[in-house]
Amino acid sequence: MSYQVIARKYRPRTFAEVVGQRAVVTTLKNSLIQERTAHAYLFCGSRGTGKTTLARLLAKALNCEKRSLEGEPCGTCQSCMAIVAGRSLDVLEIDGASNRGIDDIRQINETVAYASSSGKWKIYIIDEVHMLTKEAFNALLKTLEEPPKNVKFFFATTESQKVPETILSRCQRFELCRIGEEESVQKLLTICQDLQRDVDIGALRLIAHRSNGGLRDAESMLDQILSYTQDKIDTTMVADHLGLPPQRYFFALDAHFAKADSSFAITLTEELFEAGCDPTLFLEGLSEHYRLLLVLSYNPSQLEGKSFSWLDASTKRSYSASSSFYTTEQCLFILEHIVEWLQKINKSPYPRLVLEMVLITILRSRYRLSLDTLVHRLTLLEKSLSPTEPIQDFHQQTHTLRDPQKTVEPPQNQECTTRHLSISQQQSPTPKESQKVIEPLETQAPLAIDQLRRHETIMRFAAVELEGTIKKSP
Ligand SMILES: [Zn+2]
Repeated sequence: MSYQVIARKYRPRTFAEVVGQRAVVTTLKNSLIQERTAHAYLFCGSRGTGKTTLARLLAKALNCEKRSLEGEPCGTCQSCMAIVAGRSLDVLEIDGASNRGIDDIRQINETVAYASSSGKWKIYIIDEVHMLTKEAFNALLKTLEEPPKNVKFFFATTESQKVPETILSRCQRFELCRIGEEESVQKLLTICQDLQRDVDIGALRLIAHRSNGGLRDAESMLDQILSYTQDKIDTTMVADHLGLPPQRYFFALDAHFAKADSSFAITLTEELFEAGCDPTLFLEGLSEHYRLLLVLSYNPSQLEGKSFSWLDASTKRSYSASSSFYTTEQCLFILEHIVEWLQKINKSPYPRLVLEMVLITILRSRYRLSLDTLVHRLTLLEKSLSPTEPIQDFHQQTHTLRDPQKTVEPPQNQECTTRHLSISQQQSPTPKESQKVIEPLETQAPLAIDQLRRHETIMRFAAVELEGTIKKSP
């Protein structure tokens, strides 16, 4: 017997075996029990979430000769077996992508009038229905408006927004959600146990995580990795197989970020290219890395949450250490920068240069002044020039804005400004002195001129910073 891929071999045979989609399954089973099935259904959702599987199950259950009281198909009657084998004359599967023309739909319209061979339901399952042409949809609409009594249509689509409203309004619509990582892991584990293969749970978590909520993708990945070796499968093996960059690169970057060593960008790029690492995959991995650090910057207890469930204990410890190097704002800035370049790196003829630039920007962002800090400083400066409100120590005020545990050391120029502000605090201008500010520069006292110069310098910095921020906006 020829080899059957995991995704097909372990396709759900009953509603109870469907992973996720609890609400959809309950509704379908109840409609079967109450004999209230509609004549047209639309299953929407991203790939591998079970659209076609549910359509086939519903078809099986409708035509089953020995359906259970709970609405489950028996799987053993002639009709069930014919549907599973794909040789049923009553359940016709049509691929909307390759049969998208008006003639294909006309053929359906011509056959709908014939009775089903078993005397029960004649069911048309049209996959990727959004691919039909406008004319084909119009031709289909006619049949959907007045379908023969024994005919049902089940549509599946990944892009429901491309299906005309006139069709949508005649269907019962089900939105299929992505499959949760834990549910995918459990399904993969069952498969491995059935195949008597030894697989590390962390490896299964990584597969589930990379499949992005698509169970079929996860099953295909597992199939591929199981064929790769007969040995026990661990996380490193899966990461290698999927071409993922080792996480030690990310943690090395964090360590050099903490030291503000931007030259490490050159070293790391060299190493990545020598190791044959794909720059796009590296940036994708890096974006995931900073997303996790962002999550931790908001709430360190998330380390035990779902976002980190696919990581082993040692990697979690590394994340805990790295999270102390970054503020939320830095994580957001870095993520924005990576996402921007992820869209461009594939089109660039110089991917190595792009990667170097991205890494240098990340490492240099250690001392990047945020707009909030700048506005805060200007406010302080304004107060220092005002005779009524005495200025507070800069550090004291900064601490109220930031997480006290994550205070980043101020850069050289920041220290410089702080020192100036502290001096002006000691020499807080009296009302009489502040009057002199509005006088011509030549006639002002040396202290007021000094303050004005400082004010001008900070305003210049603010202008540069604002320009940079505005340019980035779309
Ligand atoms: Zn049956």
